[in-house]
Amino acid sequence: NEVVAFHHVSKIYNTGTVALSQFHFSITEGEFISFLGPSGCGKSTALRMVAGLGEATEGKVEVFGQNPKEVIKNTNDVAFVFQDANLLPWRTVLENVMLPLELRGSDKKSRKEDAIKVLEMVGLKDHIKSYPRQLSGGMRMRVSIARALAAKPKLLLMDEPFAALDEITRQTLQTELLEIWKREKMTILFVTHNVFEAVYLSTRIAVLSARPGLLSSIIDVDLPYP
Ligand code: ADP
Ligand code: ADP
Repeated sequence: NEVVAFHHVSKIYNTGTVALSQFHFSITEGEFISFLGPSGCGKSTALRMVAGLGEATEGKVEVFGQNPKEVIKNTNDVAFVFQDANLLPWRTVLENVMLPLELRGSDKKSRKEDAIKVLEMVGLKDHIKSYPRQLSGGMRMRVSIARALAAKPKLLLMDEPFAALDEITRQTLQTELLEIWKREKMTILFVTHNVFEAVYLSTRIAVLSARPGLLSSIIDVDLPYP
């Protein structure tokens, strides 16, 4: 089952920058894929296209066999976690996590239950009434992950989610993310410039070369757990 497909995708920004060049790659259901490469190699560009942000200059991207923009518009199948947690400061943790559920239009009681369930999953049950400024960076990222999971996506897109965290917090969150991935059987597309992170987390790594956004190799990682 193909979740994401890049069909010979090239992306040239109007500044003339070639961000991707003939990128050809596909992702199967249940994989934990990392896009690994140095800053500026086109990882975010590739990820944003999967999220329906930005058109390919050449070739095409498909998500569940469809145009990513349509999938984003019509379903909750794809969720995005950015490097900065992007929380609304005037909303509590619970209210932040309920936001995507509101857009889906389910009733308030079940929205609240669903939100509490995912907050429990990321270990924040005791902080649901806190405001983002009262939390550490690691906790804010947990809220952001909970918000993404709340709508039960099939595909989770993550753009350097742990880059701004200290090493200990990063390792803790990496372990938690792996647990969630194994339990929820999601497909995860993870962008990082950190080799260790890619090796630790992924089932497969797509290495992008610095110039001009080429896919330079694909590495299968033999995970030490089932
Ligand atoms: P990465 O995520 O690997 O750091 P990006 O996809 O962000 O790489 O960027 C790839 C290249 O495209 C870089 O040279 C970057 O400066 C350029 N780029 C990214 N976004 C834009 C944009 N909106 N307009 C012009 N150039 C861009
Ligand atoms: P990331 O940290 O995900 O690689 P960047 O810092 O490269 O992201 O880009 C942040 C934002 O700035 C994105 O919306 C990207 O499209 C835009 N951007 C990046 N590089 C350029 C550029 N050279 N010219 C214009 N916009 C850019």
